[in-house]
Amino acid sequence: MAWDFSTEPEFEEKLEWMRQFCREEVEPLETLNLSYENLLKAVKPLQEIVKQKELFAAHLTRELGGQGFGQLKLGLMHEILGRSFISPLVFGNNAPDSGNAELIAIGIAETGREDQRESWLNPLLRGDKHSGFSMTEPNAGSDPTLIKTTAVKDGDEWVINGHKWFTTNGSVADFLIVMAVTNPEVHPYQGCSMILVPTNTEGVEIVRDIATMGEPHLIYGQFGNHAEIRYTDVRVPIDNLIGPEGHGFRLAQERLGPGRIHHAMRWIGQANRAFDILCQQSLSRFLHKSYLAEKQTAQNWIAESYAEITAARLMTLHAAWKMDKFGNKASRTEISSIKFFGAKVLFNVIDRAIQSCGGLGFSCDLPLEAMYRHARAARIYDGPDEVHKVTVARQILKNYERTEVLSEYIPNRRKLAEEKFRDLIVSLT
Ligand SMILES: Cc1cc2nc3c(=O)[nH]c(=O)nc-3n(C[C@H](O)[C@H](O)[C@H](O)COP(=O)(O)OP(=O)(O)OC[C@H]3O[C@@H](n4cnc5c(N)ncnc54)[C@H](O)[C@@H]3O)c2cc1C
Repeated sequence: MAWDFSTEPEFEEKLEWMRQFCREEVEPLETLNLSYENLLKAVKPLQEIVKQKELFAAHLTRELGGQGFGQLKLGLMHEILGRSFISPLVFGNNAPDSGNAELIAIGIAETGREDQRESWLNPLLRGDKHSGFSMTEPNAGSDPTLIKTTAVKDGDEWVINGHKWFTTNGSVADFLIVMAVTNPEVHPYQGCSMILVPTNTEGVEIVRDIATMGEPHLIYGQFGNHAEIRYTDVRVPIDNLIGPEGHGFRLAQERLGPGRIHHAMRWIGQANRAFDILCQQSLSRFLHKSYLAEKQTAQNWIAESYAEITAARLMTLHAAWKMDKFGNKASRTEISSIKFFGAKVLFNVIDRAIQSCGGLGFSCDLPLEAMYRHARAARIYDGPDEVHKVTVARQILKNYERTEVLSEYIPNRRKLAEEKFRDLIVSLT
C-alpha cells in the first residue's frame, strides 16, 4: 500500500537549495522597490544560476522543454517560491508566463504547428519574452459564455475586435494570448479560440494599468500590473491560433488546472511566511505581565493557523497527486476545493499575523499589509470562490440520488433491521 508523505532525498536536496537561495538571494530584493526594468536586470544573474541547476521553467514535461517533475513536485517547489512575489520570476515560473507556455506547448502537441515553438514557446521558457492572458472583459468574467471579443478570418489573417481588462502584465508583455469568439453560430464553449497577438501590433491599445487594492498607487508598466486593453481591427496571421479552432475553453481549462495547484501552493508559502511572523511576534512581545505567546488568544491564533495551513497543504498536495495519476478532468473537485479553501486560509493567517503585530502589522514596516492586500484577490482571480463552490457541489452531488424519504430515516431503517435480524430478535426475546 503506497501512502507516503515523504519527499525522496534527491528532490529534498533541490528543495533545500531553493529554500536557502530564495531566502538569501531573492527575498532581500523585495525591499529595494525596483522598477520593472531594474527588477529584470537584478534577477537575470539569479535566473542563470537557476538554469544551471536545471530548475528554470520546470513546469513543462521533458518533451515540451521542461523538467517533467509532475504536479506534486512542482507543488512543493511553488510552496517555496510563494514566499516572495519575486521568486517565481527568478525560477521562470511566474504567472501568467508559466500557464501561457503550457498552453502554447499543448497547442503545438495537438496541431503539430512546430513554428510556434521557436517564435513563442522557447522565448517564454528562456525568460526572454513575457506574456499576458487576455480573457476577462468588463462584463461578467465568471460567466465566460458572455464573451464579446471576436476574431474573424480575412484571407490569411485574423481580425480581432474587443475590449478586455485585468490582463495581468498586459502593459509589459511582448505578446498576449487573446480569447475570442471565432464561431458565433455555436455555444461559446465550442466557438471560442485563443490567438497569439504581439503587443506592438497596430490596433492593440493598452488603455491603462488598473489601480487595485493590491497596488493602489501603481506606476504604469510595472511587473504585476493588470491592464485594460482595446483591440480594434487587430490583424495577426492565421497561424497565430493556439491549438485547434474552437478549442479555446477546453485549453483554458487545461491551463487553469495546474495553474491552480501552483497558486494554492504559493499561497501556502505566503501563509507560512505570515505564520513565521505570528510565531516570532508571539514569543517576543511582552505586554500585560506576560508574553503574547502565553495568552490563550495568541495560542489560538497559532494552533488554528497551523491546522488550517496543514489542511490546505495536504489538500493541495493530494489534488496534485491526483492530477499526476488521473489527469485534470478527474481532479476537478479537488482543484476547485483548494482554490476557495486555500485562498481563505491565506487570508485568515495573514489577518491573525497582522493582529498579533498591532500597529506594526498595519504599517508598511512589515510585508504583512502588502500580503494582505494581494491575498484578497486570491478569492476572485482564476474564478471567484462561489464558482468553485458550485463546481464542488455539482461534482459531489453526482454521487447521490434524489429520494422521497432520506435513507437515514430511522423508522424505515428499524423496519428493515427487524426483518434482517428476525431470528436474532426472536432468540433474544
Ligand atoms: C488580481 C487579478 C488578476 C487577474 N488576472 C487576470 C488575467 O491575467 N487575465 C484575465 O483574463 N483575467 C484576469 N483577472 C480577472 C478574473 O479572472 C475575474 O475578475 C474573475 O473571473 C471574476 O470575473 P468578474 O471580475 O467579472 O466578476 P463577475 O463575473 O462579475 O462576478 C462578480 C461576483 O459574483 C459572484 N458570483 C459569480 N458567479 C456566481 C455564482 N454562480 N453564484 C453566486 N455568486 C457568483 C462572485 O462573488 C463574484 O466575485 C484577474 C483578476 C484579478 C483580481
